[in-house]
Amino acid sequence: MHAQHTFSAGDLEKYSYCPMSWWLSRGEKEDNEAQKRGIAQHEELSRDLDTFTNGMRTASTYGKVIMYYAVISTFLAIGSISILEYGNKLLISKLLLVLALLWLIIASSLLYVSIVVKREERGQVEHMAAYLALGALALSAISITMLLKGELLSLLLLVSSLIWLMGASIYLYYTLLNEERAKEVEKRRELRGKVIYSGDGSHSVLYSQDGALSGRPDFILEDEGRIFPVEYKSGRQPSAPLFSHMIQLSAYCKLVEDNFGIRPEIGYIQYGEKRFAVEYDGDLERIMKQELQEMRHAVETGIVHRNHDRPGKCLGCSRRDLCPEKLA
Ligand code: SF4
Repeated sequence: MHAQHTFSAGDLEKYSYCPMSWWLSRGEKEDNEAQKRGIAQHEELSRDLDTFTNGMRTASTYGKVIMYYAVISTFLAIGSISILEYGNKLLISKLLLVLALLWLIIASSLLYVSIVVKREERGQVEHMAAYLALGALALSAISITMLLKGELLSLLLLVSSLIWLMGASIYLYYTLLNEERAKEVEKRRELRGKVIYSGDGSHSVLYSQDGALSGRPDFILEDEGRIFPVEYKSGRQPSAPLFSHMIQLSAYCKLVEDNFGIRPEIGYIQYGEKRFAVEYDGDLERIMKQELQEMRHAVETGIVHRNHDRPGKCLGCSRRDLCPEKLA
């Protein structure tokens, strides 16, 4: 019994294009043009992914900051108005203090609840507690300022309120900017759902359970419980997905199934602006496995031949000069 040979999804793509091309590529140096293009493509992908994830994260963080700033600004403005002379201030002040205490009690109860709820719900409960505590603090502040007198204090509070409002506006500007950048990448890359894997080097190479396959898909997306790989192709944009690219994608589907425990129903190949959905059915999987078997046989015997009679394909082949079976 011999150790199982591991082939990458990229090897499968080359083999499906022409077995002779794959065979000749095995001895090629690291710095050939195709590899350079691949590296450049992945660098661009990495930049896009950074813009997308950082943009969304920053927008979400800034969103919370805006809310805090707006709440503080509002309460300062209310405080400013409440200082001015009118009505029964003592009674209103007491009522506000009671309300603040009530909110604090609820906030404390929520903090206790957050310990016992599920992890995914904990953040939400803690946020709610924080908002209530913040509200209670502001109500207490208003309650106290209502007992103070003086137009100067009212003016100071109003100016502070405006400064906080300006801060909120600046954060709003950056939130919109980050959101816009992230959405541009999301639209261009069609990042529907959540990115759970990217082939930009931030995640490790995937291996199939039997060790026969390895690969690094450009993206793996999760959307409403479904999971699917996406592969980007530079260069010419065909009117339908190429066979060799479909085989490569089916290898990624197999890797997704083995590593994430969900069999993808489809995968996507994207050529520039055009995206094609490729069904990952039993037939495609069978053909991919058959190709793998043939590659294993080729390595064992050293026997490889081209799989086509198309001179045009040889004319566009980068390994033509070395090929003993070229047709043109
Ligand atoms: S020249 Fe033709 S036969 Fe040779 S590797 Fe290229 S495509 Fe295959």
